[in-house]
Amino acid sequence: MKTNYQVTAGLRQRSTKGFTLIEITLVISLLLGLIAVLFIGITAYKAGSDKAKCQLIQVTCQKAVRSYQNLGSHNIGDAVTEADVVGPGLYAADPGIVCPDGVSVLSYAATIPVEGTAWVTCTGPSHNVANTAGW
Ligand SMILES: [Zn+2]
Repeated sequence: MKTNYQVTAGLRQRSTKGFTLIEITLVISLLLGLIAVLFIGITAYKAGSDKAKCQLIQVTCQKAVRSYQNLGSHNIGDAVTEADVVGPGLYAADPGIVCPDGVSVLSYAATIPVEGTAWVTCTGPSHNVANTAGW
């Protein structure tokens, strides 16, 4: 705080008049630093959220193709397309072919996969699950 002294009738009176430029600059720079940390955190949170949603889509599609296989008495290795499994009235509602990150693309295998192999894979970084044995 900037302090001004006024001399009135021989007495020194202390009066304050706002903030100095250095104080305002310091407060603004602190706020900008906090905002920068917030944006970094939001970016990391969004990337993790997109990855989790992408893997959830993959799990849903995997379960749908297993339902298609079991209910239709299909064998592992039989041909299957997205239109056979995914869509209104089919085994999975359409989760969208695009990964939630908006850049990566989900792709479907042309055949019913063997156990432990994902039917849907993503081009996103680390979006694919390494072990799909429990699917
Ligand atoms: Zn993805």
